[in-house]
Amino acid sequence: MRKTRFGTVAAMAAVAALALTSCGGSGGDADGDTIRIGIKFDQPGLGFKDGDNYTGFDVDVAKYVANELGYTDENIEWVSAPSANRETMLQNNQVDMIFATYSITDERNQVVDFAGPYFVAGQDLLVANDSDISGPEDLNGKTLCSVTGSTSAQKVKDAYAENTNLQELPGYAECVTQMSGGTIDAVTTDDIILAGLAAQPAYQGKFKVTGAPFTEENYGVGLPEGTDKCADINAAITKMIDSGAWEEALNANTEGTGYTPNPDTNPPTLGDSCA
Ligand code: GLU
Repeated sequence: MRKTRFGTVAAMAAVAALALTSCGGSGGDADGDTIRIGIKFDQPGLGFKDGDNYTGFDVDVAKYVANELGYTDENIEWVSAPSANRETMLQNNQVDMIFATYSITDERNQVVDFAGPYFVAGQDLLVANDSDISGPEDLNGKTLCSVTGSTSAQKVKDAYAENTNLQELPGYAECVTQMSGGTIDAVTTDDIILAGLAAQPAYQGKFKVTGAPFTEENYGVGLPEGTDKCADINAAITKMIDSGAWEEALNANTEGTGYTPNPDTNPPTLGDSCA
């Protein structure tokens, strides 16, 4: 019997967890099998690949959840999950879970399931330090960059398309590179993503996040449709929040960026079923 698939492995982990309960242990042992987790590779502070090293808040939450499901860090296979590919990757069984600044939306929920939310961000703008743009109402006639397949680009199309020139690229890091070259007036996506990009040493002192978020982005754990894992994953996230590990991870990954999460929506409260 093949044991590399998520369902089988997690079921084994549950059995192992049950077996351990009587002697006071927790978690399980997934027996060396791997779990494939989709993250961003180019979003510092959230999901970032540096050689063989993967860092960021999404990575830390993913590791915590995977550990609770019975996988060691070594059992995790990190897979790049760009915004435009996330649904397809889940539908085609290319990944088992996605932690990639992935907002829970009704449209996405038609084709994938979501556990969580494990964080609540808001869409904002990144502009040059001396820019007079302070919110979406100032975007008339401006060139704006966002990412294909994101809620951020969709919001611009829905609400501001008439007066702005939207450029869509595959990743936010590319948008910021363009802006530093002077061809873009603003980059738009979630505030926490923009803060992480702006804090990169190469951009120190160049850009500012306008700090007036105009959407609510609930970061979910993307899962194949029909999953039975939401309760276990939500329990793991709740444990991470209650233990203080969530706050520790958030602080460590946003340190030095000037970013403060919205305290009215963070940490989120989770149910015991899929979002
Ligand atoms: N959270 C938004 C989304 O899921 C924007 C960030 C991203 O593209 O990952 O589309």
